[in-house]
Amino acid sequence: MPIKTKTNILATLGPSSATKEVISKLIDAGADAFRFNFSHGTHDEHKERYNIVRKLAKEKGRRITLIADMQGPKLRVGEFKEGKILLKEGQKFLLDMDKELGDEKRVTLPHPEIFAAVKNGEELLLNDGNIRLKIEKHDQSHIWTKVTVGGELSSHKGVNLPNITLPISAITEKDKKDIAFALKLGFDWISLSFIQKAEDVKQARNLIGDKALIISKLEKPSAITELDEIVKLSDGIMVARGDLGVECPIQQVPVLQKRIVSCCRKYARPVIVATQMLESMINNPTPTRAEVSDVATAVYDGADTVMLSAESAAGHYPVEAVQMMNNIITEVESDPLFYKLMDSSRQDHPCCVGESDSITYAASEVSAVLKNVAAIVTYSSSGLTTFLASRERPSLPILAITPNDTVANRLGIAWGVDSFVNKKIFSSFDKFEEEAVRVAVENGYAKSGDHIIITAGFPIGKKGRTNMLHTVYIP
Ligand code: PGA
Ligand code: MN
Repeated sequence: MPIKTKTNILATLGPSSATKEVISKLIDAGADAFRFNFSHGTHDEHKERYNIVRKLAKEKGRRITLIADMQGPKLRVGEFKEGKILLKEGQKFLLDMDKELGDEKRVTLPHPEIFAAVKNGEELLLNDGNIRLKIEKHDQSHIWTKVTVGGELSSHKGVNLPNITLPISAITEKDKKDIAFALKLGFDWISLSFIQKAEDVKQARNLIGDKALIISKLEKPSAITELDEIVKLSDGIMVARGDLGVECPIQQVPVLQKRIVSCCRKYARPVIVATQMLESMINNPTPTRAEVSDVATAVYDGADTVMLSAESAAGHYPVEAVQMMNNIITEVESDPLFYKLMDSSRQDHPCCVGESDSITYAASEVSAVLKNVAAIVTYSSSGLTTFLASRERPSLPILAITPNDTVANRLGIAWGVDSFVNKKIFSSFDKFEEEAVRVAVENGYAKSGDHIIITAGFPIGKKGRTNMLHTVYIP
């Protein structure tokens, strides 16, 4: 029997996981997808890792999803004369457009758009929110502040402006180059950082077209105010808890996580819960109880995918971290309460595209009533029907048969889906039924005496609509 879990593991690649040997171990430990972080590394490094993963996936007969994660408009201070300074509570500190190296009194803020957008009285956060400044006065090239929480500040540290929607696009010039590079290589998904508004996603779509699917990383309060619109326009979502926990009061993160996951269920968009999931495993071979609980909670919340960041990219125990995530997921998914929760959080009235989601909804209902159903088999040329079937969170495996390799790879971050490629044009429904049974049986999902449920569009292979629900008994 397949040992695949419903919830997927996305591991970030980095210096700790750059070799064929380690990447191979990550896949064997249960990694379903890899994130390439374009905030770090060169194009040559990414290309080398990309080729390693694709080759290993082929050798192992595994579907691995590849995500190119863009840096986005991450704001940073300039450089300090001495490399770093100490800011004391109560002191004044100036951010300006001066090119000179910084000191205890001032530093360069090389982002002209910010100066006009800030408001007096608002907060400006530095170094992941560890240092807090209150804006007292500003003009076109200066922001005068008072330090409310001090600390050490080194060159190029990040700047967050929580309550301000900045007049900047989520796609920088660097992102444009990185996106072109990633599309040329063949990444399955592109993820975009610091999405502020629905318009940002539209702009990304104009650039990317249908060459890859788009993940919006939600890490700005302004994105939360347009949550439904952004989720609808995106193909997938990441709960980017790192920056989200800096930009919003940190206690709101778990509440927002549940809200975002539930919104993604509504629109059938796969959702990734990310950042600090097993943070202490960067340096330790075992996580804290609280971290284990956090991963379990994300799985109980109904996340499609859970993510490792520095744990797999730069930590000492990348393989152990993936293994640990896999153990936690396996444990939660064997709890009967898990499926009760998935079922009780289903929507009574699915609200996507009408015909197709009424069929996938019904497939899930039939699977709960009919005896001995082993799997739901979807035929999908774009992947859409399979995302809809996944949204229902049935306790049965969802098998996707698609003519398209890229679609099969994209589906790897969707909950409970296993994909198979068949490029054949099926001349009749009977021929497709035969193929669905073959795939289910040969891959260990079904046996003699079982039923499978098929969803497809008729005529088979014609793009667009899923309008058929069919049960098959395997004699
Ligand atoms: P990052 O995104 O790691 O690229 O910053 C994730 C997050 O902010 O949580
Ligand atoms: Mn981030």
